[in-house]
Amino acid sequence: MSTLEQSRHLATAIPGPRSKELIERKAAAVSRGIGTTMPVYASRAGGGIVEDVDGNRLIDLGSGIAVTTIGNAAPRVVEAVRAQVADFTHTCFMITPYEGYVAVAEQLNRLTPGSYEKRSALFNSGAEAVENAIKIARTYTRRQAVVSFDHAYHGRTNLTMALTAKSMPYKHGFGPFAPEIYRAPLSYPFRDAEFGKEIATDGELAARRAIDVIDKQVGADNLAAVIIEPIQGEGGFIVPAEGFLPALLDWCKKNEVVFIADEVQTGFARTGRMFACEHEGIEPDLIVTAKGIADGLPLSAVTGRVEIMDAPHVSGLGGTYGGNPVACAAALATIETIESEHMVERAAAIEKLMKDRLHRMQAEDDRIGDVRGRGAMIAMELVKAGTTEPDGELTKKLAVGCHTAGVIVLTCGTYGNVLRFLPPLSISDDLLNEGLDVLANVLADL
Ligand SMILES: *Cc1c(COP(=O)(O)O)cnc(C)c1O
Repeated sequence: MSTLEQSRHLATAIPGPRSKELIERKAAAVSRGIGTTMPVYASRAGGGIVEDVDGNRLIDLGSGIAVTTIGNAAPRVVEAVRAQVADFTHTCFMITPYEGYVAVAEQLNRLTPGSYEKRSALFNSGAEAVENAIKIARTYTRRQAVVSFDHAYHGRTNLTMALTAKSMPYKHGFGPFAPEIYRAPLSYPFRDAEFGKEIATDGELAARRAIDVIDKQVGADNLAAVIIEPIQGEGGFIVPAEGFLPALLDWCKKNEVVFIADEVQTGFARTGRMFACEHEGIEPDLIVTAKGIADGLPLSAVTGRVEIMDAPHVSGLGGTYGGNPVACAAALATIETIESEHMVERAAAIEKLMKDRLHRMQAEDDRIGDVRGRGAMIAMELVKAGTTEPDGELTKKLAVGCHTAGVIVLTCGTYGNVLRFLPPLSISDDLLNEGLDVLANVLADL
């Protein structure tokens, strides 16, 4: 455990004087295009706390966007990184390879869903891994088209912007985008309910709606891959209706289309399973991981069936930094921590605690339209009282109210009306409850 005291503490107003100074320096030095959610600058973090430069201690319900899942600066990671950085920092795996990279690939092949023989390739960011998954699927199938879904988020590079659904802020003004990307309708139970109970609860029916679009507007013979987040992240923590993902996978199999699960946000114990696909009992052909893989060090991966992963020609994949040795050491320590500290079970316990509380809040407040998610990936969708009309304004105010009171929360969703919670699994129940107390108080005051 970190020596950082595990309690919320406001030493100054938020932001304090030192953060204010840094906000000014940032404005004068950093591109405006890089926005920040919190008005404070971090100095230390661990357990369930982020401490800022003014000595304020904030409850962390964001984990740096689902990255520090095992807890910030987790002890095993710190030790492994220190040891690796003292030995060597980089040789380039494509020049002088090293064991850590191979060991991470072995762990990914072991841990990801799918009983078939697998291979992995390592990269730096989620977007870079998604791009590589598409490259691999295209060489394997010798087809070009790719389908992604409404509300999808797959990154900010050119190809992944094309896959991402939401224009502002991710795509606005940044086109033209990569061609041969098509969009299919998702299963979004809360919003599908407007079109009838059946489509909202019957995942197979929702899948037929998507498959109809794919079949008629793209054509299976042209389609290299279908890419989907098993639970959408930036799109609003949308859990598709039961049966949706298996039906899609089934169709992909029948048509020899590569099914890619983007588990960048949902992976590594976050949802109460090692990977979210396990909740649906599905085995994707390729699985993309990043975020929670290395406790904050930049690392990402594509893992999947050997015949697909081996389709690219020798040296067709790679990158200078991909699978950096320090990041690999962090990943191995992260995986060891998840397994030896039973963090998958911890995520499931967090789900129960959070959902119990949020459902009680929802029962008394008809501005909370929906409470959903899995494990330590939980959200509430806020609406105009008693309707399904999104209330982005309320969501923004609620988030800012929490920030000012010393609780880090994030928003998401196509309509900006989803408040999401991604606590580190190292947070105590007490801190988690206190964070939810703050949330309830701020909401009651609005
Ligand atoms: C964050 C995210 C990405 C992009 O990852 P980066 O490391 O930011 O490039 C891709 N897919 C999903 C589902 C994500 O949540």
